[in-house]
Amino acid sequence: MRTSQPQTIFLKDYRVPTFLVDHVDLRFELFEEGARVHSVLSLRRNPDSGDSQGALELDGDSLKLESVALDGSDLAPGKYDHRGETLVIPGVPDAFELTVVTWIEPQNNTRLEGLYKSSGMFCTQCEAEGFRCITYFPDRPDVMARFRTRIEADRNAYPVLLSNGNDVDRGDLDDGRHFVTWEDPFPKPCYLFALVAGDLVEKRDSFTTVSGRDIDLRMYVEPRNAEKCDYALDALKRSMRWDEEVYGREYDLDIFMIVAVDDFNMGAMENKGLNIFNSSCVLASQDTATDLAFQRIEAIVAHEYFHNWSGNRVTCRDWFQLSLKEGFTVFRDSQFSSDMGSPTVKRIEDVTLLRTAQFAEDGGPMAHPVRPASYMEISNFYTLTIYEKGAEVVRMIHTLLGAELFRKGSDLYFQRHDGQAVTTDDFVTAMEDASGRDLSQFRLWYEQAGTPVLNVSDQYDEASKTYRLTIEQRIPDTPGQQGKKPQHIPFALGLLDSSGQDMPLELAGGGGEITTEKVLELTGASQTFEFNGVAERPVPSLLRHFSAPVRVVYPWTREQLMFLMSHDSDGFNRWDAGQRLAVDVIGSLVGADEQAVIEPRLAQAYRQLLCDESLDQALVAKMMQLPSEAYLIELTDSPDVQTIHRARERVLTHLATELREDLLEVYRRHSAEGAYGLSPTEVAGRSLRNTALAWLLHINDSQARDLAQAQFADADNMTDRLGALRALVNSGFVQEREQALDAFYQQFSGDPQVVEQWFSVQASSPTTGDLEQIRQLMTHPAFEWKNPNKVRSVIGAFAGANLASFHAADGSGYRFLAEQVCRLDDSNPQIAARLVSPLTRWRKFAPAYGEQMQKALEQIRDKKGLSRDVYEVVHKSLAP
Ligand SMILES: [Zn+2]
Repeated sequence: MRTSQPQTIFLKDYRVPTFLVDHVDLRFELFEEGARVHSVLSLRRNPDSGDSQGALELDGDSLKLESVALDGSDLAPGKYDHRGETLVIPGVPDAFELTVVTWIEPQNNTRLEGLYKSSGMFCTQCEAEGFRCITYFPDRPDVMARFRTRIEADRNAYPVLLSNGNDVDRGDLDDGRHFVTWEDPFPKPCYLFALVAGDLVEKRDSFTTVSGRDIDLRMYVEPRNAEKCDYALDALKRSMRWDEEVYGREYDLDIFMIVAVDDFNMGAMENKGLNIFNSSCVLASQDTATDLAFQRIEAIVAHEYFHNWSGNRVTCRDWFQLSLKEGFTVFRDSQFSSDMGSPTVKRIEDVTLLRTAQFAEDGGPMAHPVRPASYMEISNFYTLTIYEKGAEVVRMIHTLLGAELFRKGSDLYFQRHDGQAVTTDDFVTAMEDASGRDLSQFRLWYEQAGTPVLNVSDQYDEASKTYRLTIEQRIPDTPGQQGKKPQHIPFALGLLDSSGQDMPLELAGGGGEITTEKVLELTGASQTFEFNGVAERPVPSLLRHFSAPVRVVYPWTREQLMFLMSHDSDGFNRWDAGQRLAVDVIGSLVGADEQAVIEPRLAQAYRQLLCDESLDQALVAKMMQLPSEAYLIELTDSPDVQTIHRARERVLTHLATELREDLLEVYRRHSAEGAYGLSPTEVAGRSLRNTALAWLLHINDSQARDLAQAQFADADNMTDRLGALRALVNSGFVQEREQALDAFYQQFSGDPQVVEQWFSVQASSPTTGDLEQIRQLMTHPAFEWKNPNKVRSVIGAFAGANLASFHAADGSGYRFLAEQVCRLDDSNPQIAARLVSPLTRWRKFAPAYGEQMQKALEQIRDKKGLSRDVYEVVHKSLAP
């Protein structure tokens, strides 16, 4: 392991590469006891570097160097230095061919970076810096080369041999071995390199592009998963068509391949022409995947496919620019999901994640701008800020420019930078050049961390019929950044009259045409907007569609929130008003005694939602979800987790009791009929009936118990089966719960993705997930330390979704997590570093919690030989 103190890398230190690689010729000899990698690099000095003397420096990690040759002559060991994590060769000519042979041991690679083995197959993960674990190379995204890859392996054990590009040669070798050669005509950075070798079945499909080219689509999976490929292949075709229609982007190679792998640190990887997926993010059938899983698969397949242009054809200059490809591509995949389903529901889902988890990150010790200025370990920067806030930033550009000019901007960006490695600044410049808009102040979104807070106040003048809205923006200090400048914020709003209708908006001083919704542009620390001709005092509907990733503070009354819940023409704000009302009611009960009265209007509001069949049921299904504990904690200063948990439980009990008859009626109304389908209405129906069941079992209703048991037994799909199981698990019916858990495991024990859900249901429930039970789950035969999905489904679910148990008053949950992080750090530092996250915000919590969280962090800090990944997170969290 690394022993030296980790170094910080700064954006300001960026220098162009000293050497460029024009061509890479790779030959992999794969064996059970290891792999030999022959690499031939065509190198030349970079004319832009200004360095005509410097030594050649290549990155390498955990490699056994066997030989080095320059222009065909072997180099004696004294002619190069390969201590540490580099291979340095001084005195090289301006252009030459370098041959390097290394030996690696994929079968012992538990970090799952570089080349490793998963369920008997060889596979790779090279982003961000995994390629250096395969061979010595200038491992940075601005070195783009053409790759030719020959793979040699045993024909019986590894009949399928895949890499990027097109398959150009294949044949037999001695000793029952064979080879396949792949050639990728597009220059690419090495993080997009991929290799797969295994005994896999192939599912084929095809796609005809807009210009009439036939693309061969192939999906490779283990034989037991052969029936779970159709959905992903269909989603792929939808994505290909959509990217042609909406962005004018056509696929470029003759083949597009998807491979499913069980052991994978991330969700999926966009390697050129050969996307590798975590099995849980691509395999699906009605019997094994929930509606949510289907939606996630569609979104991830699209995301990785869209990277072919936003990421692969135009890539990042350095890793500080990670959001260039991720923010833009998340924005693209969320547009796609909106177009495929319900835009309002998609927006609600995105914002829920952003407000719960990204706002927390932005307010914690790991807060960083969308374009960070420094890092120790880049793997720690695959964050919600880079992805989700990065996507919000692109979305704001879309809002400011409008769809048409945005498309002009993206066309210009792709055309201007095709085949290049560029920066977020280049992206914004393309948008400016195409639209004529000045986005110089807007660029602060990339540079300043922290979630802006908008304080909104208003005034209505009856006599002059004017309405004045004053908006003050403040951006909190974050580690290393104080005294921030105001940002350029698009702020969409509407004003409702007393009948609930949108009023015409006429800005004083001539603010363009009169419409019922406007996007105000905030640029100053405080701004006042005046509306004329406002006939009566309006109820403001602020930040419609969540037009910017900010917090809005405005003193709505409960009356006004209920009014917005039932009248706002913006579906997102309807939902948000419901959330605000519930947050307010739950908040008023935190720490209150058991006799405190629960606001009766909350149940009334929910009843109205449940009974009105004319409403969009997909929106109703979302509105019936109470704010999560994690979100309530995020909104609270110095939160006391146990009191928040109890207050939320009390409200749930109250609502379920008050609405019992209505919930039973909703359950009956949405009972499963006909064939299973994935339309927004069908998904909403299942969501509503399962919410009804969950609420009723929360109060241990025996009629609901019978319904849940019947649903569990008869369900023809995983959404209903798991919904019933979850409801039983969260109820007080101990025997029924145990029976259902056993039956579920018996039925699905052969399917790792379903077993992960079985683990997760238990680990995230207070009834089955106390610390003792979590330790039990970890001794279950299906639990595997080396499989990140299993770790996430037990330890991750416990610390991230079972907050009452994780934040146990005696600190046992924190100590447990610290123990697991230390254990995992030796084998898989990336996953270990991610697990630390629930401890990082110890300063936010009430001292009784915070002090014990701090101790757990110190417990991790004191471990010997801590990885760079965990070191960075722990030290930043503990920094004064
Ligand atoms: Zn991505």
